[in-house]
Amino acid sequence: MPTYDLTCKDCGEHSEKFMMRLIREEDKVCSSCGSTNVSQGLGGGYLSGGTVTSEIESGCGGGGFS
Ligand SMILES: [Zn+2]
Repeated sequence: MPTYDLTCKDCGEHSEKFMMRLIREEDKVCSSCGSTNVSQGLGGGYLSGGTVTSEIESGCGGGGFS
């Protein structure tokens, strides 16, 4: 059974959800504070320690010749 590992980014609450289906965005809700700012990882043992963090930095805004 897939185990989804949810960690709230707001309050740090960690919870696991057992589901027979794929997790959806609406499932990613903190059980403690109700925040949807929850990061999801796979528990169980599909991927161990596979935290995918994609931070796209779009710096250097606006082209401008000085
Ligand atoms: Zn929370």
